[in-house]
Amino acid sequence: MQDKVSEVVVEHIRNNLAIAKLSGEADKPWWTKTSTGCFTVKRVWDLLRGKEDVAEDLKQLWSKSLPFKISILSWRVWQGRVPVAHLMNSWNSNISPNCRCCSVPERETSEHLFQNGEVARVVWQYFNGVAGINHLTYLKQSIRKWWDTGRNARVKVVFQVVPMIILWVLWKRRNTTLHGGIYSNKKSIRDANDIIRKFIMCRFKIKWDIYQWSDMVVALEGYTPSYSFRIVRWSPSSDNWFKCNTDGVSRGNPGPSSAAFCIRDSLGHLVVAKGIKIQDTTTLVAGARAIRECMEHCKVHRIFNVIIESDSIAMVQILEGTWKAPWSVVLEVDYIKKLRRTVSARVQHSLLEGNTLADFFLT
Ligand SMILES: [Zn+2]
Repeated sequence: MQDKVSEVVVEHIRNNLAIAKLSGEADKPWWTKTSTGCFTVKRVWDLLRGKEDVAEDLKQLWSKSLPFKISILSWRVWQGRVPVAHLMNSWNSNISPNCRCCSVPERETSEHLFQNGEVARVVWQYFNGVAGINHLTYLKQSIRKWWDTGRNARVKVVFQVVPMIILWVLWKRRNTTLHGGIYSNKKSIRDANDIIRKFIMCRFKIKWDIYQWSDMVVALEGYTPSYSFRIVRWSPSSDNWFKCNTDGVSRGNPGPSSAAFCIRDSLGHLVVAKGIKIQDTTTLVAGARAIRECMEHCKVHRIFNVIIESDSIAMVQILEGTWKAPWSVVLEVDYIKKLRRTVSARVQHSLLEGNTLADFFLT
């Protein structure tokens, strides 16, 4: 067989031969690159295209609830692709290379317009002052400083976007004045405050009647997240029912894997606990394997009424028929279904904390 089909197929057959049973069902092809087993052009595209490593700096320019236009402008500034006057002048010498932000015009470069020009300095100073950030010489350095400064989760989220909002306002002001409009420093600050306020309301889904940056920072710094908790504990089953806790884990997902289960009677006494090492696979398959091992044990030892607990919500949904089984666990699931004809098993979800004993046998 090894000469005829690929190694992956041989490996798959070898791993699953023991539990595959002949049935009247026709063979089904699986596209193994998606969990559903269905072929998609999108997945092929993802496989074929070479993906670049994620650039951490560029990633920071995108934030949920921040308008795309602001992120896109920031990205262009970051890449030096904003048509500032100096750049326009290099393409067409009729265009003045000078800025419109200083009393004595200077060459309008990206650094000048967004960081060191007179207007830029006023706007940055207003926001920097309250945030406790010094004015730095270079724009990227300054923006990174904002990203590193947040003192709690909310402040961090807001400080991530403030520099981008400032760039946006400076760019808007520059274009307005270039086309004959008036845009004062006060208006630049007011507009930036307004965008920040709307961002906060949208991102945190709260009503926010604070309009000044200094008040916003005070309010954001006073924020303490609220925690809710609940007690999770294992409880024995009702009369004549045995309770099984199962767990499967894969280091690397896929990678070296193991499956474990333990069975306790209705008084909570341990009947059996077992952990086994299985072939390299995914956490989902390991979870299924743990349930299968547990049920096989029940069948052999004539334990017919069991409640099976798994901390894999996916596995529980699949066995209950709510979710369609991914191709990788179809054989295991079929096998478990067959076992359920002999062993009456209720499958239910258990929080990780309630499954500690099965967990223990995995290590
Ligand atoms: Zn200037």
